[in-house]
Amino acid sequence: MTIAMHGMGVSRGIAIGKTQVIQRDNLEIHESKISGDMIEAEVRRFENAATTARQQLRAIRNRIPDETDADIAGFIDAHLLMLEDAALIHEPVRLIRELGCNAEWALKLQGDALIAVFDEMHDPYLRTRKDDVNYVVNRMLRILLNQSPQRHEAPDNRLTGYIVLAHDLTPADTVLMQHNGITAFVTEYGGPTSHTAILARSLGIPAIVGLQHALRYINDEDMIILDGTHGVVLVAPDQHTLRHYEKLREQDKRYVSGLAKLKSKPTVTLDGTPIELQANIELPRDFTAVMEVGAAGVGLYRTEFLFMNRESPPDEEEHYATYVKAIEILDGLPLTIRTLDLGADKQFDGSRQNGGALAANPALGLRAVRLCLKEPALFRPQLRAIYRASVSGPVRIMIPMLSNLHEMNQVLEIIADIKSELDEKNISYDHNLQVGGMIEVPAAAVCADVFARHLDFLSLGTNDLIQYTMAIDRVNEEVSYLYDPLHPAVLRLIHNTLEAGRKANIPVSMCGEMAGRPQFTRLLLCLGLLQFSVHPSSLLEIKKIINESRMGQLSLLTDKILSAGDSQEVAEIMTLVNSVQ
Ligand code: PEP
Ligand code: MG
Repeated sequence: MTIAMHGMGVSRGIAIGKTQVIQRDNLEIHESKISGDMIEAEVRRFENAATTARQQLRAIRNRIPDETDADIAGFIDAHLLMLEDAALIHEPVRLIRELGCNAEWALKLQGDALIAVFDEMHDPYLRTRKDDVNYVVNRMLRILLNQSPQRHEAPDNRLTGYIVLAHDLTPADTVLMQHNGITAFVTEYGGPTSHTAILARSLGIPAIVGLQHALRYINDEDMIILDGTHGVVLVAPDQHTLRHYEKLREQDKRYVSGLAKLKSKPTVTLDGTPIELQANIELPRDFTAVMEVGAAGVGLYRTEFLFMNRESPPDEEEHYATYVKAIEILDGLPLTIRTLDLGADKQFDGSRQNGGALAANPALGLRAVRLCLKEPALFRPQLRAIYRASVSGPVRIMIPMLSNLHEMNQVLEIIADIKSELDEKNISYDHNLQVGGMIEVPAAAVCADVFARHLDFLSLGTNDLIQYTMAIDRVNEEVSYLYDPLHPAVLRLIHNTLEAGRKANIPVSMCGEMAGRPQFTRLLLCLGLLQFSVHPSSLLEIKKIINESRMGQLSLLTDKILSAGDSQEVAEIMTLVNSVQ
């Protein structure tokens, strides 16, 4: 009997094949007392385990082929760095000495404490960093317990052609397994912003995460169909289903290679409305992808990555070097740099700001521009660096989370001040550098006309706009059913912002996830969106839909959409509209 299971499709494509299950470490750690005269020997045992873990990771890193993206090796480097970190290396030593306990127990206590800190974090990216701690701690525990490395780490072809199934996979696992020829993977754990999901997209293998209880129902050598686009796994499919999916797989391959042809085509509706299609950058490696898909520029460059996994913030020179490099790769395409969007629980050092205290409602707390205005030492070096870099190519500044005019004016004053400093020192910069704002707070969307009068452009951050409009935490699974891009309130706020931009004659783009979801493309055209910024992996699919749409027909539906009473009504209208070829 065929079983269908649903998870989160994080990397598109269909894979059909047999499974190999990678069992999770089940490490039972117990406390034992170490006598006073043996404490230093126990400390050395711990330190030797750390050295061995470093050696193992370096060996894995050396097996990554040269042509693999540098950021992928960077994930392993991050684990190596953790093995140098005082929190993971010195603290357990202190615990061994203070508690007189075994190295495994000290490491487990410290690992659990670090994981608890990451668990509390609001930012989904930072929260998934607990996976890294877990990974490094488990590797060291295996060494301390004299367990052999896991089977997928063996440099052979045992996994070639298989679909891998695991409770969780680390970035290092994923890279090694892709190198060893796996065709796809499924994990029980994880979300779309986990490293593993990011890697799957970048490595181009179909993948599903968050498929709960997968290990309970799927065994080694089971035949499965994995649809990474829709997040579906079919276990033990019958011949009819198999043939059906084989056809779909071929169609999908043809569809993807067909999309590649669109790369150099203009983005324009069938009736001649040009649409600007830019790309979002989350990590530096995405720049290459931007060029590969022929994006018109970068509409959102998230700069938070510069602040992550480190004790101190980057200085002006580091910002500058990063932006100049990005501008060079883009070779004349415009780059929209979003200023820092960290806050409250998302400090660059993870836990030590504000004495380690976490805000009760971090999403409503001191984040993004609010934090930047409170901490000019974080903000000014970034702004100065952007201005200095602006002589190297077209750059724009985008301010996140604006909620009132006062905030915007404070930012503009700092910018004016920075410009005079640069003038005084005869440092050149682009005097026409555009400054825009993200509309992601409902208050700003309602008053978008006010912002449009003072800024050069606006960009709709729908991820946050939906969160704040619906009063739900965007990372809380328990209220995710309320995260509704089609809610009439959301659509009216989007429309209001687009209208404000049109009247003030400034461009308005959308860089939230909604812009990159194919099912919403025509709806957004209906509402009057003319600039999209999407992840490079979905850019060509969005271009295809735009190029097959008629703006004239879609704009006839605007009023009907805006007067819909609920999202169901909107969905019904759009199902019809989306079905038109
Ligand atoms: C958004 O809120 O839509 C957005 C693009 O910003 P982020 O997802 O980084 O908060
Ligand atoms: Mg946002």
